[in-house]
Amino acid sequence: SLRHALLRREFVLYYQPKINLHTREIVGVEALIRWHHPDRGLLLPAQFVPIAEDCGLILPIGRWVLQEVCKQARAWLQAGLPPITIAINASAIEFRAKNFIENIRTTLEDVRLDPRYLEIELTESILMQDAESTNSVLRALADLHIKLAIDDFGTGFSSLSYLRQFPINSLKIDKSFVNRMTRNADDATIVKAVISMGKSLRQCIIAEGVETPEQYAFLLAHECDEGQGYYFARPMAAEDMANLLRSGVPLSL
Ligand code: C2E
Ligand code: MG
Ligand code: MG
Repeated sequence: SLRHALLRREFVLYYQPKINLHTREIVGVEALIRWHHPDRGLLLPAQFVPIAEDCGLILPIGRWVLQEVCKQARAWLQAGLPPITIAINASAIEFRAKNFIENIRTTLEDVRLDPRYLEIELTESILMQDAESTNSVLRALADLHIKLAIDDFGTGFSSLSYLRQFPINSLKIDKSFVNRMTRNADDATIVKAVISMGKSLRQCIIAEGVETPEQYAFLLAHECDEGQGYYFARPMAAEDMANLLRSGVPLSL
């Protein structure tokens, strides 16, 4: 049924805001795919993305996500909503595909979206696989003025020298560290160290999975830049996201 899902328009994108922790303004959104399965209801990525990766369907699905996100970003801009960055997640297979950059470039052109509004989220393991080819793809993205975020930071293996060399705009601290940092001294140390390392490398630091006021207070106290999580807002349908953007930031917590 995954094979038919694209044609039958069963995929939908949800959007979750990224918040500037100091001003509480929405500075960006992340697009997260969902599948309205005809029999099984709303499915999360964990239930179908790995299968799509295994059978290669992640490539057409990824192209759909990119197109949808670019159209959405342009529609929000045209509706006069505050300009924000929209992030998409890319799998290793997409990132390694020969036409990855070309596809992004032509989609942006077709939709007439300024590339500075697009961000790509990649995990450490994707980036560290083959440093030389990775570097050239990342340079091409940067030349187009597309932003790059490292997703789930801290869960994979990162070479510190690549972290310095690659044109990385943001590090997203994995939610497992954020979840434990107010209860476990070791996690707190890791989060503080990532914040200070990222700052020294002039990268924006985003905490994923912020769920409690205590976590928010900890991140503010340690000068983390941005946050994302249920405490601020859950992933939501495009229309709800537009209303939230329109209703005016900053977010009242
Ligand atoms: P991710 O990019 O790390 O996305 C963050 C995940 O954490 C999302 O799960 C989000 O709904 C969830 N989340 C957000 N705030 C909180 C919180 O406060 N607490 C907790 N416990 N979770 C929170 P989701 O939407 O199920 O997506 C899971 C993963 O699937 C994503 O992880 C991403 O790697 C992948 N994914 C999502 N959309 C796409 C896509 O369009 N293409 C590809 N290739 N992968 C995607
Ligand atoms: Mg992500
Ligand atoms: Mg993540």
